[in-house]
Amino acid sequence: MFVPGLIERKRDGGELSAAEWRDLLAAYSDGQVPDYQMSALLMAVFLKGAGREETAGLLDGMMGSGSRLDFSRLGKPVIDKHSTGGVGDKVSLVLAPLVAACGVAVPMMSGRGLGHTGGTLDKLESIPGFRTSLTLAETMKQMERIGCALIGQTPEIAPVDKKLYALRDVTATVECIPLISASIMSKKLSEGLTGLVLDVKLGSGAFITDPEKSRLLARTMIDLGKDRGCPTVALLTAMDRPLGRSAGNALEVEESVNALKGQGPDDLMEVTMAEAVEMLLLAGRKSPAEARSELDKALKSGAAARKFQEIIEAQDGNPAVVDDPAILPQAQEVEVYKAPVAGTVLQVEPRTIGKAVVQMGGGRAKTDDVVDPTVGFVISARPGQRVAKGEPLASIYAKDTAGIELARAALGKAIRIGEGTPEMLPLIADRMT
Ligand code: URA
Repeated sequence: MFVPGLIERKRDGGELSAAEWRDLLAAYSDGQVPDYQMSALLMAVFLKGAGREETAGLLDGMMGSGSRLDFSRLGKPVIDKHSTGGVGDKVSLVLAPLVAACGVAVPMMSGRGLGHTGGTLDKLESIPGFRTSLTLAETMKQMERIGCALIGQTPEIAPVDKKLYALRDVTATVECIPLISASIMSKKLSEGLTGLVLDVKLGSGAFITDPEKSRLLARTMIDLGKDRGCPTVALLTAMDRPLGRSAGNALEVEESVNALKGQGPDDLMEVTMAEAVEMLLLAGRKSPAEARSELDKALKSGAAARKFQEIIEAQDGNPAVVDDPAILPQAQEVEVYKAPVAGTVLQVEPRTIGKAVVQMGGGRAKTDDVVDPTVGFVISARPGQRVAKGEPLASIYAKDTAGIELARAALGKAIRIGEGTPEMLPLIADRMT
């Protein structure tokens, strides 16, 4: 393989064949292609794009570097969902046990916080003892026993994606639709799924803020799934305000536990139920109404909350959290934030909130930072709400007074109060298949 020739072709707007991408990624994985050549190629893809066949070649190269799970012996549909990430997006914590309680196998592989967005693994790890780094053998056993596992990317799954992602991170080539799509789908399709639901976020708190690009991302991932025999459906959902009320790891676990008991905020419940319905449809339910009624039963009967308890126990966490969320780690400092003026809440800007959680210690500025599970916000103010001066709008949870001050300033910036009607995206803006 003559790598400079491949770089030159891509640089000049040509295409690499799917086989060339597969061979190239195999050679990169083996250490035969150095980072500097791969960086040049990634930048060429970033600048020139990649077509459907090239993106599929990238995907196959990433998947081919690792193992593919096989859950066929479970004899059930195997469905997962992926969210492109947001602020307060704790849907996975509610969705996975809820759908598993309906008899669908859910091998949910998630990530850590990235930039201003929270990560499912960090949230779960705020549950005392909870272990997200299961081996493949442990995952398989747990799937057989209880039908659901909440885990991180194992070293066997698409390892070249991990290597490429680290390289993209330091070569300004992360925000590239073919690379993002192949990266996400390489992990999801390695789970041996029979169906996948994508939650592609729209709005200022999403990673990709241009709605047209979000749609293209959804379309690219749907096509990759379809071409690899995994029916994939995308919901485009609002991230122009935080989802639910809480943002911050332990606070989001508490809200998720309440949601599993049927007491979640409306927006969180609506997005969770919409995604759960899609998962059950992919699992073979005949209609949205049939899926919805099964899900309602799983919530009302307590089966969904019990399934979460089983998962926590299986992964060495303290299952009593579900009955008593006060067991979760608690913040040192709590302060109520009140409306500085009267008026209408025009905006609760999610990116500012997400960044503040990170700065308060709830996320990472460097890869080896230790996350503080206790910090964050519970925001009751919703866009469109009329508020009086001095009315409580949010609670701040911080580790010290500096955190409280930082959080207060962030809320002052994020919660815009004035006169008029807020412009908001529909909570579920679109469904793409
Ligand atoms: N998440 C991924 O897994 N890969 C990307 O490229 C971006 C987000």
